[in-house]
Amino acid sequence: MNNYSVVNYHVTNRCNFHCSYCFAKFKEPEASLTDAKTIVDNIASYFRECGITDGRINFAGGEPLLYRHLDELIDYAHSIGVLVSVISNGFLLTEERIERWKGKVSCIGISVDSLRDNTNRSIGRCCEEKTLDLKRLVSLSQKIRECSIELKVNTVVSKRNLDEDLTALYLSLKPDRIKFLQMHLIRGVNDKAEADRITEEEFKAFCSRYQSLSPEPVCESEGSMENSYLMVNPAGKFQLNNGGRYETFGSLKTTPFSEILKKAPMDSDKFNSRYTGGRVQ
Ligand code: SF4
Repeated sequence: MNNYSVVNYHVTNRCNFHCSYCFAKFKEPEASLTDAKTIVDNIASYFRECGITDGRINFAGGEPLLYRHLDELIDYAHSIGVLVSVISNGFLLTEERIERWKGKVSCIGISVDSLRDNTNRSIGRCCEEKTLDLKRLVSLSQKIRECSIELKVNTVVSKRNLDEDLTALYLSLKPDRIKFLQMHLIRGVNDKAEADRITEEEFKAFCSRYQSLSPEPVCESEGSMENSYLMVNPAGKFQLNNGGRYETFGSLKTTPFSEILKKAPMDSDKFNSRYTGGRVQ
């Protein structure tokens, strides 16, 4: 049995942003709190069966802060010994929320693609035309650090931000981890973003400009997401980017996760190269 120590539970399809390249679009409805706990229990059982002591559930979306049971679910996952991280666009994140998560959430990831208002708006990274500015991001990052939570910044690289210098962003936020993701297309999900796609060479050139940053960014090219990113969709079904197209493989509400994984064509080498030693990459 392969040991997958990080599972992304996309608790909601809803988002206050409307990024053109968004691949987190699920047609399934959100789970009730009872069902969501069953899903978390199932993942925790899988970790135990595999002897994974640092298993982590990454709550994602859509925007996970829009899932009304998020805090209770975090409390629950923490109470049964599962590590928890959250990935958010940051717009709804508050200092109070971060304080509430202290001691329960090991890492908060914030996705930031640009410091330019017009670029963010053109991507759709805005809520009623309002974007997130650097001052606000710095304040959130300080609170995250104060609460001894690891901070990760994710940047999706596309034609829209390929030429932007984002150094000031990373130097100001001082994240523990930086990840660059080459914008990728999932057939039938975000095809309309095709015009913003960049080549692997362009992505590599972008990444090389930030090599001297500390910490050095982790770079994920388009192909590295395929068959390697464990997704549980809002209804609790295991979903995989299988060669550039989504495929689902059974429900964690009814079937042991270890059984579902036997049917899924996971690429364990890709998974292992993303996550080393259970830490967020
Ligand atoms: S912030 Fe994330 S989930 Fe929301 S629309 Fe953008 S990519 Fe999708």
